[in-house]
Amino acid sequence: MRLRVRITGVIQGVGFRPFIYRLAGELGLKGYVQNDTGGVTIEAEGGKEELTLFLLRIDRDKPEISRIYSLHHSFLQKKDFKDFIIKESDVEGDIRVSVLPDLATCDECLNDIADSGDRRHGYPFTNCTNCGPRLTIITDLPYDRKNTSMNDFSMCKECEREYNEPSDRRFHAQPDACPECGPEVKLVDDSGETVSRRGRAIDDTVRLIEEGGIVAVKGLGGFHLICDAMSEETVLKLRERKQREERPLAVMFPDIGLINKEAYVDQFEERALISVERPIVILKKKEDAAIAASVSPENDTIGAFLPYAPLHHLLMNGLKRPVVATSANVSDEPIAKDEEDAFKRLSNIAGHFLTHNRRIVRRCDDSVVRIVSERQIPLRRSRGFAPLPVILPFKLERPVLALGPYMNNTIAVGIDDKVYLSQHIGDLETPLAMEFYEETVKDYLKLFDIKPEVVAADMHPGYFSTAFGEKYYKERLVKVQHHFAHILSCMAENDVQLGEEVIGFAFDGTGYGDDRTVWGGEVLRASYSGFTREYHLYPFHLPGGDKAVKEPLRTACSLLYETLGSEALHSGLLPLSEEEMRFYVDMIARGVNSPVTTSMGRLFDGISSIIGFKHKVSYHAQAAIAMEQAAGRSGESGRYPFSMEGRAIDFRPMIREIIKEKHEGVFEEDIARKFHNTVVDIIVSAAGLLRDRTGITKVALSGGVFQNAILLEGTFHKLKEHGFIPLIHQIVPSNDGGISLGQVVAVK
Ligand code: ZN
Ligand code: ZN
Ligand code: FE
Repeated sequence: MRLRVRITGVIQGVGFRPFIYRLAGELGLKGYVQNDTGGVTIEAEGGKEELTLFLLRIDRDKPEISRIYSLHHSFLQKKDFKDFIIKESDVEGDIRVSVLPDLATCDECLNDIADSGDRRHGYPFTNCTNCGPRLTIITDLPYDRKNTSMNDFSMCKECEREYNEPSDRRFHAQPDACPECGPEVKLVDDSGETVSRRGRAIDDTVRLIEEGGIVAVKGLGGFHLICDAMSEETVLKLRERKQREERPLAVMFPDIGLINKEAYVDQFEERALISVERPIVILKKKEDAAIAASVSPENDTIGAFLPYAPLHHLLMNGLKRPVVATSANVSDEPIAKDEEDAFKRLSNIAGHFLTHNRRIVRRCDDSVVRIVSERQIPLRRSRGFAPLPVILPFKLERPVLALGPYMNNTIAVGIDDKVYLSQHIGDLETPLAMEFYEETVKDYLKLFDIKPEVVAADMHPGYFSTAFGEKYYKERLVKVQHHFAHILSCMAENDVQLGEEVIGFAFDGTGYGDDRTVWGGEVLRASYSGFTREYHLYPFHLPGGDKAVKEPLRTACSLLYETLGSEALHSGLLPLSEEEMRFYVDMIARGVNSPVTTSMGRLFDGISSIIGFKHKVSYHAQAAIAMEQAAGRSGESGRYPFSMEGRAIDFRPMIREIIKEKHEGVFEEDIARKFHNTVVDIIVSAAGLLRDRTGITKVALSGGVFQNAILLEGTFHKLKEHGFIPLIHQIVPSNDGGISLGQVVAVK
């Protein structure tokens, strides 16, 4: 294997390259290390164990004075390097790479905060050159104090001295501040009255949370709603007020020790938890976890993360217990970032607000990752990662703006071989989200000084992002098919070269197809210059269209009808009367409001309902997640039959078997597992047919369905076993959060 690591930080002139060189030598790795203006790129080849050790030791054994601001890594196909070398520096300067993500508080700053003799004792805005806010405070480039929201504060003598002293840790630390001169926190009640300030405000907040209160806390990229995660009653109160009935809530823990008590943590998960990016990491809950069940109801995972800003550390030091820390918003709106906005939107949810007077220039939600097959898989790429560039395997011919999709939107700007993906914007469903979207497009064009010669958007005529493109960039607009964009994003981050072809599996919930139907179970033959649709799921109807997304039993009804015809009315598998069933079947038969789809996401939903897991859902992919977790409890290795009819992958033989097994009383977990095994089989078979015809062996897996760990892991290993080279996402999400990258690449 080849490991590629891209690091930004204080790594030049501190003996970092010789360190990497020695470490690679010690582990017998081949490849290179190279400096450029933005950081260091390392590529190393060797055995899996050596590479894993290499990765873990970069963090652990790096030179004392070096600092890592970010570390992107991915495992790629090997190139057969001959030896390990220090390559000549690439010194083409680009000011854009100086825009860094927000960095978790460093150990030295934590020591300052803990030291009762230090003037920053207990100070929640402590930072230095090695840590602190970046993206969320920058107003303009170059990255200088006057171009940040810290410009509102003038440094005291002591801070100024540090700032100008080259040997000081805070030399040119733009957000440098102390209690004397910097921002301060205050606690405000729901009527807007100030309750307390500074240290008192933090102590009061701790007490309020201990007593079962919900407090909105202003962090780096927006407000969190924080409450005791151990109290069922409190968490239920939060859910009720936030109108977020079942979706899992993220939990912030004081330290890794407490996470270990509640969840299983392997070395990769631990690395992710303590990395400077400090993402939320999806972990498997322990059977005897003490955390309130309603944090992630009907769910055997938990999203855990560690404090990343001094204010969080101070709160967690007082609380000494895990707290729910979820983006402060109502249902699916963007995270609240300003006081006024927070009071308006959150006063029905939070009793108090712990706020401060440092402006948040741009919102930034927490990132979410999951470890699958020892790879770090991003589910949401935001704080800590954005706006680090994704490096392309080729140079773009002209500057590009990509407008992204509709769900999980991110936008991107691309220039030369770099694509800057925005932080998570979210679903473009509410006026607030649309506003945030427009702001972000303007923001990225200005911040990265990009004048796009071409603008890419999704083909869907109903998407807000596409309409935005029509309105402002009509002449330069190029529309990109959604699933092609998925596959392109996967190819680009996996170093696929111009002219190469891949077999692409784009499995997701929905995307506008070339034939104007809803696609989502697509097998493409693709290169950077185009694609052909080789296979797709057998088309079925969605009675009620979008309603079927919220009510998987509608899809279940349709799948049963496709398989059994009018017999479906008597299958007795769904909690529906014959009349209700007839209503949906009639809709399908008469073609009333029942769009045709080939969506794999909907197939997962429908099967989940047929097996009996989830008939109605309150959040995206909930039915599929319930089925995935059930499958995880089964060791079943069997599979169901399916057939390939022309270009269609016919799942009806499988459904017939599932119905039979349901009637025989086979365990639901086992049926769920066999279904997953069957989808893996479908992928390997379709890939095999295409390889036989074309000789292509690289297989790109993209689309939200591949967030399913059982499916991804199973597919990854089966493809390898059969001699394919599977390409999976490790830099951008497989869900629609990665679409903007694919769009940039499409219009290169
Ligand atoms: Zn620091
Ligand atoms: Zn000061
Ligand atoms: Fe998609």
